[in-house]
Amino acid sequence: MDTIYGALEWRALRITGHAAAQHIPLKYSEAGTAGPRATLVAGTHGDEGPWSALAIKMLCLLPANDLVGRLRVIFTANALAAEVERRNSWIDSPNAIDLDGVFPGNQEGSHTERLAAALAPLIADSDVVIDLHGGGTWCINAFVKRFAGSEQLAADLGAPFIREAPDKRGGLTTYARSLGIKVVNVEVGGRSSREMYWTERNVAGLKRALHNCGVLALDTPPAPADTAVDVGPTTPLRAKVGGIFVPTLREDAVGTIVPGGAEMGKILDLHTLAELQIFTAPFARTAMMLMRPQICTVEGSALVYVVAAPV
Ligand SMILES: [Zn+2]
Repeated sequence: MDTIYGALEWRALRITGHAAAQHIPLKYSEAGTAGPRATLVAGTHGDEGPWSALAIKMLCLLPANDLVGRLRVIFTANALAAEVERRNSWIDSPNAIDLDGVFPGNQEGSHTERLAAALAPLIADSDVVIDLHGGGTWCINAFVKRFAGSEQLAADLGAPFIREAPDKRGGLTTYARSLGIKVVNVEVGGRSSREMYWTERNVAGLKRALHNCGVLALDTPPAPADTAVDVGPTTPLRAKVGGIFVPTLREDAVGTIVPGGAEMGKILDLHTLAELQIFTAPFARTAMMLMRPQICTVEGSALVYVVAAPV
């Protein structure tokens, strides 16, 4: 069977990099030439990338005939960050630069600013942009950020929670919005024993979203997504001091609502194992949007949870 993946035409841009490699490739690919133009991006944050990239690849195993628009995919937007499983690459000395904070980039700037400048035209030349983040190496999450004009697109992606998102200065989605492009930011999945469950849920969401915006024409139209729970402003919960984090709620809690006061996890003193901090659900109905699913050592101020109240 001819697949969309097999029909992808690959291109590579050369971004000035470190001395040894001289240039780092930014590879992207396209299939289809007519109809609505969708661009799927994964891995602007390197530690979040592989799960979303895999979801896009699985989407691309659909028959080539299902594609009726133009599909552009960028599996790994920030390769240097991805290879070290970090949010940002190490190369922008002296300070790390968030690729998702420097759009539309600068062709004369540092590596990451040049990378944004190379990505910007690929975003601009789109009717729909789906920016896939997600949990990743240290957290799992379960929500989609929607913006004015992208409500249906966000709903179609089928995440447990949806939140209205403020524009992020220099963000990829902010840049896309400034051009009138329909855009959403997907924050679903991450490293855990359920990582394929969330990846497959993202694949189903991408199929539904791309079918409903006319980029795919599937023989059997996807069923509507379960209605996502709308949540209000998000609350980050951080470690007051560093130590050993031990989750009480485990990975199956992400994407669920837990009752107020429920113990979510605790931080123990690294040296004495004394309890330093107990995290409890702060809202009468607490939406578990992001969490650390595993025992780990955290620094003081480390982000441990993102929660919100349903509206
Ligand atoms: Zn991210």
